[in-house]
Amino acid sequence: MTGSPAEVKLVSNAMANATRRKIMAMLVEKKRTKDEIEQAVGGSMLDYHLQMLQQAGLADMSEGMVILTDFGKNFMETKSEKPAEAKEELAGTRPLQVVELRQLLPCIADSSKFRIIARIDPPLGGSLKLLEPLFPRARYSDRIGALIIQRGNILITIYSTGNVTMTMIKSEEEAREVLEELKEIINKAIAMGVTPVPREKVKVDHAEIYQYLPRTDCQVCGEQSCYAFAIRLVGRETEIGKCTPLLDPRYATNLEHIRTLLEYL
Ligand code: SF4
Repeated sequence: MTGSPAEVKLVSNAMANATRRKIMAMLVEKKRTKDEIEQAVGGSMLDYHLQMLQQAGLADMSEGMVILTDFGKNFMETKSEKPAEAKEELAGTRPLQVVELRQLLPCIADSSKFRIIARIDPPLGGSLKLLEPLFPRARYSDRIGALIIQRGNILITIYSTGNVTMTMIKSEEEAREVLEELKEIINKAIAMGVTPVPREKVKVDHAEIYQYLPRTDCQVCGEQSCYAFAIRLVGRETEIGKCTPLLDPRYATNLEHIRTLLEYL
């Protein structure tokens, strides 16, 4: 996979379907025969589903077995982070190092920007939860076991396993700068060994939400315009799911941003 916008779209389409996600989850455990997959997900359109995964470069056939490709393994690795137990304090944690940085794919929302994967060591496990107050725009998600930090247009997700993803990054240089900045902030808190004092969260207003909406004024959500929808969203008079155009894969990063912003309301 070269990560061209067309390939990114193939991957998004392939993973947009629950049956194909289930097949991918089975393949993470081990290679499977078609019969095994059919028993788990049913035979209806199985060939079609497998073809979609193959076209996206996520899975392949080898000696009569369905297997994950290297790209598929890498893709699933970044999707399968597990929540970790929360710790009470930071004392005893080794200072962080950035051990790996790789550009993965162009961002779906803007193909001139990148989605980056990095690794930090040591993994912070449940201590990540304690770091949420360090950042004016951050929240810890118990569901995925990750700290999600918003820094301007960049969304940084630090997983308890040590993996870090960043969206809307302009260059490798910018990625390194952002990671270094994060590392400094977190290492300072580790050196103090205590839970940081909560910072006041930055308020979210409708203008900020508006910039991440499709801004087509299509009225599918039942509002006159995207701006009106943003106002009602901030006022909690509607919900984000009513803007169905946002579900299009090209708005995936925008949707991620809006969901993060709504947490701060
Ligand atoms: S459905 Fe979404 S894109 Fe269409 S007007 Fe409403 S907010 Fe805008």
